[in-house]
Amino acid sequence: MMAMALDRVGAPLQSVERRVEAPRRGQIAVRVAACGICRTDLHVIDGDLPRPKPHVIPGHEIIGRVTAVGPGVDALKVGDRVGIPWLGKTCGRCRFCRAGQENLCERPEFTGYTIDGGYAQFAIANADYAFKIPSIYSDAEAAPLMCAGLIGYRAWKLVAEARRLGIYGFGAAAHIVAQLAVFHGQEVYAFTRAGDTPAQKLARELGAKWASASDEKPPHPLDGAIIFAPVGSLVPLALKALDKGGTLVLGGIHMSDIPSMPYELLWGERVVRSVANLTRQDAVEFLKIAPRIPIRPHVTTFGLSEANAAIARLRAGKLTGAAVLIPPA
Ligand SMILES: [Zn+2]
Ligand SMILES: [Zn+2]
Repeated sequence: MMAMALDRVGAPLQSVERRVEAPRRGQIAVRVAACGICRTDLHVIDGDLPRPKPHVIPGHEIIGRVTAVGPGVDALKVGDRVGIPWLGKTCGRCRFCRAGQENLCERPEFTGYTIDGGYAQFAIANADYAFKIPSIYSDAEAAPLMCAGLIGYRAWKLVAEARRLGIYGFGAAAHIVAQLAVFHGQEVYAFTRAGDTPAQKLARELGAKWASASDEKPPHPLDGAIIFAPVGSLVPLALKALDKGGTLVLGGIHMSDIPSMPYELLWGERVVRSVANLTRQDAVEFLKIAPRIPIRPHVTTFGLSEANAAIARLRAGKLTGAAVLIPPA
């Protein structure tokens, strides 16, 4: 099969031929129909995340059809359409797993980072970490739900009570969360890079009340905010826009350093917290809610061999919505 693999950290992905593996106990093999590009893939490629699997195939927003099941797999069968997210496996035994916080597992596996992901024609996944996909979604549309959607949903739950919600970094996750927030009656304030008119336009189309540059002051103080951009200098800016008692959620897996700031910005019981990974429960909840709203991801598709070009566009901020790779059939 054809795949795009990371031969060397920091270098472009290489097109490689790999053997299609047979699924082992508890695993499924999937023919990949679509795989979203997440910003975390850029952090894997750039070496921001330590110790990736050598020559890893990135990609953790996989939509595909099951082609084979290993021994002990009962819940899925050949032909099922599934989504495979970032959380690839957890130990089930550590203190976090036992406390219902498998997103913080001490011995986790992550798709497209410690195990091979979906920038390929086939992928192997642990069946217990794959999810059936609602039929209203096409393969390409469903792909960004698997990370932008799931992590976005987990971040959003922490500010679900905010009347006025700020969203910083209006990319794949933000455009999904905006739909979730508007549906729940929240006022959405979208913050983008200065001059990113297409992202501001998309935000308004999706129901945002206000859309402007990240260093602009919104017309009202915000009750909650989420930062999806991996930019630490946004933290003091977002705190400035936040009302007393408000919560600021950091939704990225990696962020540049947060600059030193006056304590006054945090004073007034403002809360800053991160969101790490996801639990399978998040996936179950989100995949139930998404089609009811219905959340409609805006996607731009690329052939699998165009992965490096697509990544470059994402890096340059020249994509609105989500980028999705389509492998050759
Ligand atoms: Zn664990
Ligand atoms: Zn991701």
